[in-house]
Amino acid sequence: MASLPKYLSSICLVSLCLFLVACTSAAGVENQPPQAIEGVIDLRMWDFDQDGAINLAGEWNFYWNELLAPDQLISQSPTAYVPVPDVWTNYVVTDTTLPPKGFATYHLTLLYPPETTQTLGLYIEGEGTAYALWVDGQLAAQIGRVGVTPEAMTPEKKPITIFFEPHGETVELVLQISNFQHRKGGFRNEPLLGLAEPVHRYQLQNWFLEAFSAGILFVMGLYHLFLYLFRTKDKAPLYFALLCWSTAVRTGVTNQSTLLFFFPIGWELALRLEYLVFFLSPILFVLFLQSLFPRDIHRWFVWTVLGCGAGFSLFLIVSDTFLLSYSSTYYQVIYVLEIIYCGYFLARIMRKRRTGAFYIGFASLILFATIIYDTLFQIEVIGAIQFSQTVPIENVSSFGFVAFIFVQSLLLASLFSQSFSNIEILSGELEETNLSLEKSERKYRTLFENSKDMIFIAGVDGQIQDVSPACQAVLGFTKSEMVQMTMYDVIVDPVDSERFREAIISQGAVTNLESDLLCKDGQVIHTLVSATPRVDENGRIIDVQGSVRDITARKQAETERVRALKLEQIASTDPLTKVNNRRFFDQVVLKEIERAKRENAYLALLLFDIDYFKEVNDSFGHLTGDEVLVKLAALCQQTLRSMDFLARFGGEEFVVLLPDMNSESAQATAENLRQLIAQTPLTVANETSLSVTVSMGVAIWHTSDPIAVNVLLERADQALYQSKDAGRNRVTLWREV
Ligand code: GH3
Ligand code: MG
Ligand code: MG
Repeated sequence: MASLPKYLSSICLVSLCLFLVACTSAAGVENQPPQAIEGVIDLRMWDFDQDGAINLAGEWNFYWNELLAPDQLISQSPTAYVPVPDVWTNYVVTDTTLPPKGFATYHLTLLYPPETTQTLGLYIEGEGTAYALWVDGQLAAQIGRVGVTPEAMTPEKKPITIFFEPHGETVELVLQISNFQHRKGGFRNEPLLGLAEPVHRYQLQNWFLEAFSAGILFVMGLYHLFLYLFRTKDKAPLYFALLCWSTAVRTGVTNQSTLLFFFPIGWELALRLEYLVFFLSPILFVLFLQSLFPRDIHRWFVWTVLGCGAGFSLFLIVSDTFLLSYSSTYYQVIYVLEIIYCGYFLARIMRKRRTGAFYIGFASLILFATIIYDTLFQIEVIGAIQFSQTVPIENVSSFGFVAFIFVQSLLLASLFSQSFSNIEILSGELEETNLSLEKSERKYRTLFENSKDMIFIAGVDGQIQDVSPACQAVLGFTKSEMVQMTMYDVIVDPVDSERFREAIISQGAVTNLESDLLCKDGQVIHTLVSATPRVDENGRIIDVQGSVRDITARKQAETERVRALKLEQIASTDPLTKVNNRRFFDQVVLKEIERAKRENAYLALLLFDIDYFKEVNDSFGHLTGDEVLVKLAALCQQTLRSMDFLARFGGEEFVVLLPDMNSESAQATAENLRQLIAQTPLTVANETSLSVTVSMGVAIWHTSDPIAVNVLLERADQALYQSKDAGRNRVTLWREV
């Protein structure tokens, strides 16, 4: 909550207090005022012009159970001298406490400076519950009708100012009061006597203050009612409006009774209205709190307050005003208990730093303080604080209410304006989000529209919902045709369909599923299908979105490549032994010679022939001979280095190219190979083990030699024949002779 409204609330309260002070102090008095003693008040030293108005408080003559006219008083001595203002239940007359119901006459003699002619004003707020006033034997005011029985009297309350001019040295005031309708009977409000104009102004100011407060409260209530009507979801303004109006009514029917001036509903109805508002306002207050802080307030408390308020209101309907007037005391006790809970509650919401807690706390503090003050005053624990010497401060809770309402309306205004600024911020953010959404939507639309891959959205049941333009380009179906189909209409193989369905359900996604799709023209294309499900906030799959990549061309190219590779292999491999063939050897050997020349490296050639192979064929058959060739080739391939190049030269002759090998190494390698062959029995068909030997010829290519295969081969061949001639199963290195 911003600090500015906090200051505002303080400023408002201070202004309100100053306003009250200004109004009340207008009739203030400076001098120490005289008090009535034994029915006489001495005003001879009192200058109304300078000293201001005076309260006619003190000891008045009191005649209990008698309604005496001024001329009857002379023959009677008073029952007692009693303090005014006070209710007569507080008087003890001849050792007995007076009952609330009854009637009495009050008499006061004013000693007045002689030869002073001034028009005086006497202001009386109201006495319980009807009175008649004589000034110097003249009937000056009659509020209600006094009587000796309930039936004979009419209660009324109306603040009045009467005007008179004193003649002579004394002024006699006689006041008849009767009460049968209220627990408080008697001379409750002391009259204020002063010069006519300031006293009249005092009443008008009070009247204006009350009318002003009630008017403000009424308009505030109306305003908040409209707020509520336009947004009935939030109940706080409604309770607040009702609270405003109940406070307005309370202000209007108490003290100056301004409301009764406009609506003369009579004393009894006004009293009932005052009490009703008194009983209902805690309910409205608590409902208001609940609507603002629903999580913090205890439900039992709300129900208790509702119950008490409703109970007392019910009592108000059935009881007479006399009994009713007692209920306020009990209700005030409940009030105080409710205030204690509210104090605890307010501390809680302030500690939790709830929005608006400061306002509520601040306003309630003022309200509670005034209520407690009024309660203590009414049950006579404390006396009224004297604002000035003659004007006591009483019934301050009405002003407490006004202050409370004031601060609360600030809170509501602050909450409203805060909501508005929140809305402003939110709509700003929303606009930004929309813009960025639009941007990303455009971006993804472009991707969707222009992607070469087919993009699709399908339902969980496989029903196609949306497809990118690529789908039509590849499959030939239009978009409107496709949305009539399912994924399974285009997947050719049912096994693929099942795999697709399975993967989505069990893993939630499909990645690069190879499957064939059927085009509109009956052609089948090879594709890779990938898809992921889209889930809602509860994690349930709404639909599946994915892409399909046409890999037909790639697949064809691969097939071509494999076939070419195969052909190439066939061309270079000896079909029987699976080692390189002679043709391939011819290509390789030339390249190797060129490389050796380029790099000035050695290159050795090894040529070997199986000894007496004819006999193998003759003894075991041609097929076994073939097998021996296969096994021998495999044995050689295993033994040689990966860089060495073995090829079948023809028949039972093999050739080996040994790059980077000089004559010694080549000779050693040849010797090792010869020995290995001689020592390794070759297992052929029928588990027959055969051993063969080979004769070898080794030739080395020198950098000085021509770049040709023949020379090298001839040399190796010569060396081989030397080995044969020398008895076979040996290695011969070609040497120039
Ligand atoms: P030597 O080389 O030790 O002088 O005796 P030889 O018995 O091996 O002699 P010659 O080179 O004259 O005979 C080669 C024989 O190898 C002839 C032929 O039957 C046999 N031969 C050649 N090619 C194949 C073949 O692919 N399969 C089988 N089974 N035999 C073959
Ligand atoms: Mg041969
Ligand atoms: Mg041979």
